[in-house]
Amino acid sequence: MNSITKIDLAQSELLKKDQQFVWHPYSSLSAPIPAYEVVSAKGVHLKLADGRELIDGMASWWCAIHGYNHPVLNAAAKDQIDKVSHVMFGGITHAPAVNLCEKLVAITPDGLDKVFLSDSGSVAVEIAIKMAFQYWISQGQPQKNKLLTLRRGYHGDTFAAMSVCDPETGMHHIFDQVVAKHHFAPAPMIGVHEPWDEEDIAEFTTIIREHKQQLAAVILEPIVQGAGGMRFYSPHYLKRVRELCDDNNVLLIADEIATGFGRSGKLFACEWAGISPDIMCLGKAITGGYMTLAATLCSAEVSRGICEGEAGCFMHGPTFMGNPLACAVANASIDLLLSSDWQANIQRIEAQLLTAVLPFNALNDVATTRVLGAIGVIEMKTPVNVAEIQKRFVAEGIWVRPFGKNVYVMPPYIISDSELEQLMSGIYRVLAN
Ligand SMILES: *Cc1c(COP(=O)(O)O)cnc(C)c1O
Repeated sequence: MNSITKIDLAQSELLKKDQQFVWHPYSSLSAPIPAYEVVSAKGVHLKLADGRELIDGMASWWCAIHGYNHPVLNAAAKDQIDKVSHVMFGGITHAPAVNLCEKLVAITPDGLDKVFLSDSGSVAVEIAIKMAFQYWISQGQPQKNKLLTLRRGYHGDTFAAMSVCDPETGMHHIFDQVVAKHHFAPAPMIGVHEPWDEEDIAEFTTIIREHKQQLAAVILEPIVQGAGGMRFYSPHYLKRVRELCDDNNVLLIADEIATGFGRSGKLFACEWAGISPDIMCLGKAITGGYMTLAATLCSAEVSRGICEGEAGCFMHGPTFMGNPLACAVANASIDLLLSSDWQANIQRIEAQLLTAVLPFNALNDVATTRVLGAIGVIEMKTPVNVAEIQKRFVAEGIWVRPFGKNVYVMPPYIISDSELEQLMSGIYRVLAN
């Protein structure tokens, strides 16, 4: 038996078990679609069990900004694991968490002064919403228990997060009886660099004024609506949201889980509008894609409001809160980013993407293309068949995982010009044929 056959057999055995025992994201176990087995990864390359190497256009759902197997991040993890990989955070503290929280306060927009660490993006969103609700309970206004959000948004898969995801592309339809009812304004229509028209926020304005007595917070993804539609919108919209929240006594939660750490061209997308939210959620790229970690930041006013209320504390505390291993890697990842000329690098990727998407506009099946920072989107006229198109991308030596009508790339920031060229021309060949 030659070695190739051996690998094939081993792989198919593993894939058989995979399909027998393992759920994948949004997957069916009754009609499973075979997954690709990754055995290792380095830089922008994923290595499959059959020996093929793929250029990763997804950065593992936008997290692996420095690429895979980075010596600096590996060293941070190894160093910390020899000290302590986890210890409870109740009554105990440690340098990795304290240093991370200090760093996050320093680099995020002004006024975000307190940090609550948690395990994943969705949990960070749950915590943000709970902060807003508990704040108003503490202020003697428990009737302020509704949220206002934007259509085409995405905030995660847990229940409070689900309740503010887009009602059509999200899961409201199936979970109608169990998901809390909140208010939705139309998705912003004006693009990042287009002239502003107050009409774009007219309905939002009406809703916030009408329901201000019941509204605890507005929650939105600043500038980039990610998994709900891959849309970019005007900084003026965000500026107006901040003003309307102030005028109507409503808190503003910015979900920067997708945009945080440079992806949109600014370190945080709120910077596009020069605003500070009252509460901010971070996740995804926070550890450079090494481990799961998230953070919810809030203003001193929000934390004071919560802690001076009847409960006397914020009512939350995950088991793995402040995990030292994850915090140590997050510190190393953020230092690595900030010590590089990350802004020039994102501009390099943006400029190349702007040129690379042009030929797609001539394809019959393409509705439109758009680029912001290290995000490139090719929106098709109809939803793509992911399983089928995935095979063709893999045959091109690239890893791209579209959703709905969107074929998009959010590559690791370390991708070279020639790797990005290969990624985009591979996508072009698949979509053109
Ligand atoms: C991915 C994402 C989440 C959810 O994060 P998980 O880590 O998957 O729970 C929430 N909000 C936004 C904007 C995201 O992109």
